[in-house]
Amino acid sequence: MSRFFSLPWLHPYTPGEQPQNRDYIKLNTNENPYPPAPAVRKLLTARDAADLRLYPDPDCRGLKKKLAGLYGLTPEEIFVANGSDDILNFVFWGFPGEKGAVFPDITYGFYKVFAGLHRVPCREIPLNGDFSLNPRDYYHQNSLIVIANPNAPTGLALTPGEIQGILDTNRDSLVVIDEAYVDFGAQSCYPLLSQYENLLVVRTFSKSRCLAGGRLGYAMGSPAVISDLERLKFSTNPYAINRLTLALGEATVAEEAYYREISQKIQKTRKNTENALKGLGFLVLPSLGNFLFARRPGISGENLYQSLKEKAILVRHFPQERIGEYVRITMGTDEQMEQLIAALEEICHENSPD
Ligand SMILES: *Cc1c(COP(=O)(O)O)cnc(C)c1O
Repeated sequence: MSRFFSLPWLHPYTPGEQPQNRDYIKLNTNENPYPPAPAVRKLLTARDAADLRLYPDPDCRGLKKKLAGLYGLTPEEIFVANGSDDILNFVFWGFPGEKGAVFPDITYGFYKVFAGLHRVPCREIPLNGDFSLNPRDYYHQNSLIVIANPNAPTGLALTPGEIQGILDTNRDSLVVIDEAYVDFGAQSCYPLLSQYENLLVVRTFSKSRCLAGGRLGYAMGSPAVISDLERLKFSTNPYAINRLTLALGEATVAEEAYYREISQKIQKTRKNTENALKGLGFLVLPSLGNFLFARRPGISGENLYQSLKEKAILVRHFPQERIGEYVRITMGTDEQMEQLIAALEEICHENSPD
């Protein structure tokens, strides 16, 4: 803390570990195990590097046009930002509801951080005992509503019909659906945009588009909401998305087939891993994300996390009420998952009572 000023009311987000030395099998921050499409990789040429002396397009027109084309929207319905965290920051900053914000008690930890940063009063609505979300808990809220779908770290998802119920009963509130993991098997609610001005769908290139290091996210919403997001961006950092990332993003949108294929591969890996974990006595939530949320009766979440780390495998453990016994395991390549299962076999054996 500096001697000039302190921010005791700030409670920053704790990112998953990003080790820079030891070679870990990294299954802790839901990155994609596969590289970007060949056409995207090819873009990193000397010419693009020379162009770095120029500022990027602050309006991101090229990328917006491509995304609009992909989803049958207009560029005025698309907002582009430096990662979806950036968008969530703007959302809590610019659209605090009449009665603050609501989101589930178990969800992406950054929502609470942004609420605290912008001093938006928030109410965390408890998920059911099985971690499912009851849409009716979100009816008539008069608040900013933020729901990750599929949810993190559980992987459980709502249907567009269930989200429609929330939109119908909150016509005067912004409903933000964070679709960071939607490409791994859940159904997107973006088609509802034509009926609901109060819907904002937030997406990221970090997970299903293999571009976590590029920092790129976008939102789809009504032109009025999008133009307010633009005003916030142009009041802070108009050049937030760099030239290289913009170019990589545009190339990514043109490679839908590649990304659909690897998403399917990851879903297959998820199914196999789920079965293997169950074989070892784990209880596994039915996830539609690129991760599994699981616990092993008799071994604490902290112990699982530490024991795997000693074997050079990183998973995520959240020392938080209700989920402290769980670990969240990102889906890697099939080879990586075989190594994970082998390590867990040993750990289960070491921890067996007899
Ligand atoms: C990973 C993640 C994000 C952040 O994505 P970035 O675009 O990398 O900032 C947002 N929401 C959820 C639910 C996530 O899991």
